[in-house]
Amino acid sequence: MPSFLIGIDLGGTNLRCALVDENQKIIARYETDTRAEQGPDAIVERLATGVEDVLRQKVVDRNDVLVIGLAAPGPLDGRNGIVLKAPNMPGWENYPVAEKLRAKTGLRVFLENDANAAGWGEYVAGAGRGCENMVLMTLGTGVGGAIIINGQMLHGPDWTAGEIGHVVVVDGGRVCGCGGKGCLEAYASATATVRRFTEARKQGWQTSLNKEIVTCADIFDTAKGGDNLAKHIVAETGRYLGLMAANMANLLNSERCIFSGGMIKGGDLLFDAIRKACAEHAFPAPGKRLEILPAQLGSDAGLIGAAGCALVALGCKSI
Ligand SMILES: [Zn+2]
Repeated sequence: MPSFLIGIDLGGTNLRCALVDENQKIIARYETDTRAEQGPDAIVERLATGVEDVLRQKVVDRNDVLVIGLAAPGPLDGRNGIVLKAPNMPGWENYPVAEKLRAKTGLRVFLENDANAAGWGEYVAGAGRGCENMVLMTLGTGVGGAIIINGQMLHGPDWTAGEIGHVVVVDGGRVCGCGGKGCLEAYASATATVRRFTEARKQGWQTSLNKEIVTCADIFDTAKGGDNLAKHIVAETGRYLGLMAANMANLLNSERCIFSGGMIKGGDLLFDAIRKACAEHAFPAPGKRLEILPAQLGSDAGLIGAAGCALVALGCKSI
């Protein structure tokens, strides 16, 4: 019986492969630059090289691998293994990546949205273990989301469920990358947090953070040092996220709302603001039950989750 899975996390900058064992543990890794400008066929070649590499590291035969799970940025058609469009990767339009990678590796390949894969990874091996209803929000350039209900990933008929970043929090508000206005992503992503900070500074707010190019980490560090503007901006980001966590809990009775991505290094400063806003807006019963937690697995969540989602797609509970 095959006893290994392969998880792949394909991003615009890096691609990573992992050999995953039956206990959802990563036992071998491979990482390289995506070099997106070379187009999808060249990237599939590099993915296949990564698969060979992790197998070689542990002297595992490909017959001992049940399936490959591939996490990629959306929008995508997971049922048919097709990336519909990848904003930061030229040439990825209606690209049948699962079939292409199967042809190169001889292994079955299932495609999953990267935020969903991260959510599933936390659900099976991280901060979501043991619950049935869980929401994950990934905080980075954008805000990604995953919704797990009754122990199952919510995909929806068009595979677009869980786009929490594009739920509107301000009617007619800031313009979002999706073309809409007022989306959560336009207020509470790392990029949006930096933008709100630099706008306020330009308007004359006093702050000790004076360097021209500011990162989200700078804002959190400055806030921890007591700077009023930085504290205000972090609290505002937390308020939007907490509001959304409450909305999700009211809608889904989610037991846990987990936040992942570099911004969670903001620690208590961010999480206290999220919890406060969530407590204000959550319907009392789920509000009492809902836990707001940082993710535990970091970037491994996407690898473990991609492998796990492929296992589920095959109809298996375990290897
Ligand atoms: Zn949007």
